Amino acid sequence: MNRLHLSSIGDHFNKESGTRLLMDDLGEVQRGGQHFLNLGGGNPSHVPAVHEWFSRRLAELSAARSLDTVFATYDEPQGPADFREVFAKFLCARLGWPVSAENILCTSGSQASFFMLFNVLAGRDKQGDARRILFPQSPEYIGYSDLCLFEEGLTATASKAIPTATNRFRYEIDFDALNIDETIAALCVSRPTNPSGGVCSDEEMRELTALAMRHEIPLIVDCAYGEPFPGITFGPSQLPWSENLIVCFSLSKLGLPGLRVGIVVAQPDVIGLLTNMNTAMMLTTNSLGSRLASELFESHKLVDLVDTEIRPFYRDRANNAVALCDRYFVGLDYLLHEPGGAIFLWIWFRNLPIRSAELYKRLKQRGVLIIPGHLFAPGLSEPTHQMSECIRVSYAQPPEIVEKGIAIIAEEVRAAFECKPSGSS
Ligand code: PLP
Repeated sequence: MNRLHLSSIGDHFNKESGTRLLMDDLGEVQRGGQHFLNLGGGNPSHVPAVHEWFSRRLAELSAARSLDTVFATYDEPQGPADFREVFAKFLCARLGWPVSAENILCTSGSQASFFMLFNVLAGRDKQGDARRILFPQSPEYIGYSDLCLFEEGLTATASKAIPTATNRFRYEIDFDALNIDETIAALCVSRPTNPSGGVCSDEEMRELTALAMRHEIPLIVDCAYGEPFPGITFGPSQLPWSENLIVCFSLSKLGLPGLRVGIVVAQPDVIGLLTNMNTAMMLTTNSLGSRLASELFESHKLVDLVDTEIRPFYRDRANNAVALCDRYFVGLDYLLHEPGGAIFLWIWFRNLPIRSAELYKRLKQRGVLIIPGHLFAPGLSEPTHQMSECIRVSYAQPPEIVEKGIAIIAEEVRAAFECKPSGSS
């Protein structure tokens, strides 16, 4: 075939991307890359009780022939009405949010939710004026990077790195540097934040909500790891409802990443708009995941699973990973972001003589997958120097794999500081 003549959207996707790199690495492991210690992509752990619950429920639904309609019919484009009702009631009961089925849309995963949201909000309007999504904190989720079809549609404010204790720090939103002018279409934060594992404080969320209200723009909150489910947070956090909120949930980190279920909660006009876009792209979404999970939300079994299984499971994994870093990194100049939630450690090797991209390559050659820090800069013209000294390490894998990986990371970082070749420390 002759060379394709691409549209500007074709050009937008015709390049390497961090998200693709991450997903390719996951694919490589999936294809049988047993030799890899996978501390890279965002696959959740198999939490046994959760896995067990979904397997049992699938068998029950299948035995009762309840899945026939799932396989054999197009469901309604906003998502199954009975699931949306159950989900809205769950949010009313757990969070006190005044929402109904009309405030809810099921999508094919949060990634799809963000694709739709960013593109209906950012870009040129009828007058030709450009508007952008502002990430008030940075580093931010790698997956936002390529979502906006308008090239200058994303912008970000670098967070302040605050030392908190020996070998510990945390990011805070730099409200003084936050510039919300008429070009800003919406604010967007992940909470807990991927990659740092930080959780924006309630005070920061109050301030962001107030700013969004004052500027009459939405505040998009990405709850992929957050409350009330999957509940991978290690301290209390709240999110009171406000008219400007658009909250994106996902069933992925609950244990169903393969079923691709995202849930957007927002005002009905926003939901209507997104439903139109979803219908244009997909006609409707796959309802297997929502049907499978419905009983969890209805029976409040979910709260039980979160409190007794999911949160303690990841808290243990986080504590274990922190202890391993403190053991293997002795003598190195490192700082860990205080782990507040999600499934990652964000590790800062101060004055690292090589960039995180090079460290990623060296580690991959040694069979360890991580994500280099510079990729978590959606909206910044370039990553900060500090981000290029950071890596993201997932602790979703079994502790023995995490330990082997962290030991090799320590060796490679030491070799870099001692200017020795990779693998020689
Ligand atoms: N948001 C964050 C912060 C994530 O980490 C991820 C996936 O890793 C997503 C959104 C996308 O989730 P989903 O699997 O629902 O598309």
